[in-house]
Amino acid sequence: MMRFDVFILGAGVAGCSLAEASLRRGFKTGIFDPKSPGSGASGAPIVITNIATGRRARRVNRADECLHTLHRTLQWAQEHSEPPFFKQTDVLRPAFTDAIADDFRASLHKYEWKSTELEWIDRASFAKQYPWIGSHEGGLRIRGGFTIDAPLFLKAVINASKRMGLHTYFHQTIHNIEKRGAGDGSNSWGTMEEGQYYGNPERKNKFRQLLRPRHMSTNRAKSHTVIQFTDGSQVEARHVIYAAGAGMKSYPIWNFLPLSYLKGELLEMQLREPMPAEYAFSGIGYVASDPSDPRRVITGSTFEREYDSMNPTTDGHARLRKIFHRLLPGFSENVESETGWAGVRVSLPDYQPVVGEHPEWTGHWVFTGLGSKGMLMSPYLAMQLIDVIAANDD
Ligand SMILES: Cc1cc2nc3c(=O)[nH]c(=O)nc-3n(C[C@H](O)[C@H](O)[C@H](O)COP(=O)(O)OP(=O)(O)OC[C@H]3O[C@@H](n4cnc5c(N)ncnc54)[C@H](O)[C@@H]3O)c2cc1C
Repeated sequence: MMRFDVFILGAGVAGCSLAEASLRRGFKTGIFDPKSPGSGASGAPIVITNIATGRRARRVNRADECLHTLHRTLQWAQEHSEPPFFKQTDVLRPAFTDAIADDFRASLHKYEWKSTELEWIDRASFAKQYPWIGSHEGGLRIRGGFTIDAPLFLKAVINASKRMGLHTYFHQTIHNIEKRGAGDGSNSWGTMEEGQYYGNPERKNKFRQLLRPRHMSTNRAKSHTVIQFTDGSQVEARHVIYAAGAGMKSYPIWNFLPLSYLKGELLEMQLREPMPAEYAFSGIGYVASDPSDPRRVITGSTFEREYDSMNPTTDGHARLRKIFHRLLPGFSENVESETGWAGVRVSLPDYQPVVGEHPEWTGHWVFTGLGSKGMLMSPYLAMQLIDVIAANDD
């Protein structure tokens, strides 16, 4: 039986980032996915990183660290991949109303943005510089972000990680997860009251649980988990990290977390003429072009709490087309073809990720709730979590 220090469940951007961080720490690492890497939300054809989010252009928590770590991962993975899968892009955020323009301007002071990070551009200058953007009251230019072909990126991360010794278990099914040994967790699936763990008022840190793991079991080294697959094979791991995106539903030990599942659709468009490659656009939705083909463009995104099917819909298609034409009317006549894509994002009520150890199952960790910022946050958060695991092992 293969024995791992760290075994990761789920190969989206969360799981792939964990694999990289774990290998860099020198841990023997395995990763499982019932499908292939990027089969969930992280398979969005093209994604952007935006550090000034929401109507008030609020600074993403630990934005600098997140961008820096993501950049390092992108460069490292690119060394193992032929086609370029990322480019540095500024994000342009037009203010479509006076009220939004006021909020954007206020944000410059409120979040102490440096002029090298964020610039407010008045209406006349914005219209002159970016004539293809729809009518607006000026806008923000957010510097130093990335546009990423996510499926290519994840493939490259897995390839690079395999060279570092990653063991992959893709297209398999888990039959059972059993905790054994002298740890202080139970040895069967646990059930807990909702909120018992998540709602702890002492935990003020935004990255809940991450920096203050609850369990410091003295028996940790002796406890381990056995994961059995339906084909009869099994692996053993000292730490299991659940990074299964929408698949978190299938692990009852995490049922107490107030996770919500939001479907999002994207529209992939082929243009006759290329879009300005150095920008991504974010307003009522977002528009970004393929890092290596500026005629291939993505428009996102819808947000559905209730949905019957996981497929793209005609309604979603129509709404996304509207977003594109509102954001970039200068390219309206330029669309050659359109195809839909859909995925499910996982988030928590405060829109912050949940990263940490299970309160009863020692050695079982969660990494999810990345909402719309999985690409930006995962490499940094993964590194932090692996540091915590390593510190507990010492
Ligand atoms: C429409 C849309 C647009 C987006 N745009 C952006 C963007 O512009 N920028 C950005 O940063 N982010 C964007 N995201 C969201 C972001 O990428 C997510 O935060 C991120 O993909 C979450 O990654 P994850 O690894 O947690 O989950 P996922 O990517 O969903 O990965 C989960 C993985 O777990 C696997 N799995 C399923 N069931 C199980 C199981 N039982 N056990 C183990 N594994 C399982 C799945 O096959 C999948 O591979 C977008 C998402 C959507 C849907």
